[in-house]
Amino acid sequence: MSSDKNDQPLAPGLYLVATPIGNLEDITLRALRILRSADRIACEDTRQTQKLLNHFGIQTPTVSYHLHNEGPRAEELLTQLKQGARIAVVSDAGTPGIADPGHEIASAAIAAGIPVFPIPGANAAISALIASGLKTDSFTFHGFLPAKEGQRKTALEQLRIKEAGRDNSTHIFYEAPHRILDTLGDLAATFGPTQPIVIARELTKLHEEFLRGTASDLQKQLASRPAIRGEIVLLFTPSAAEAATTQKSIASEVAALMQSESLSEKDALKRVARDRGIGKSEAYRELQRERARS
Ligand code: SAM
Repeated sequence: MSSDKNDQPLAPGLYLVATPIGNLEDITLRALRILRSADRIACEDTRQTQKLLNHFGIQTPTVSYHLHNEGPRAEELLTQLKQGARIAVVSDAGTPGIADPGHEIASAAIAAGIPVFPIPGANAAISALIASGLKTDSFTFHGFLPAKEGQRKTALEQLRIKEAGRDNSTHIFYEAPHRILDTLGDLAATFGPTQPIVIARELTKLHEEFLRGTASDLQKQLASRPAIRGEIVLLFTPSAAEAATTQKSIASEVAALMQSESLSEKDALKRVARDRGIGKSEAYRELQRERARS
């Protein structure tokens, strides 16, 4: 079934519409038509989306739909969808549902048997990936790393353990400018200071830039700037050898998890065993050996 032949009224259903991540030319003709013809546009921030709608002379009514009202608002929108409404969902920038609201309403609509239509367009992760020069045949999108230092270190350490000795794929993260130096420091500590990193900043905007270098070089380079601003995607492909040689002891991983996630020693050990793909008793024996050696 075609959702929206351009000479016919829009079919009832939920339309997840991608909007630009900077450059206003990055919106498709189809996205503009859907936004114009929908009964209502559910926006992460109505003021932000209104600027876009004004730019394109679109007068469709808007309603707010953000992380804090996603659940109750999804219910309301669902009622309208069941009555045959055509509702477009947009986030502040890029593709809804990708590190942005959108997932909840999409899955609720699917469960209620309502058609859900993707209206593809700009996305920071994929834009950064295709111009990064890193492997594109296999990649993992992680969204944002935890903001808390301990949890961020644990997340990176768990990633290193998973990737050690494998033919690695590219890992993609969103990062805030005020955390990028700390994250580069954590990456250098976990994957080694020579781990190659790509930083894609301000994609599609006037000051778009790609920085490519080792974790420690990029940290130095950015630290020397008077200010680090703008939106950032960070990408890297862990080097298998490096990941394996910097393998930490089970004891230090258990201690890190107990501190960062307030786990008991037993639960932390269980997690370490799972992440390493070994049994609990094997992990326990290795922990005892490490303790006997120290
Ligand atoms: N839904 C969006 C998408 O499809 O990419 C992502 C929304 S998420 C809340 C915002 C984060 O995406 C930013 O903090 C930044 O990490 C990344 N981002 C968004 N626009 C960007 C741009 N123009 N250049 C680089 N990164 C960007």
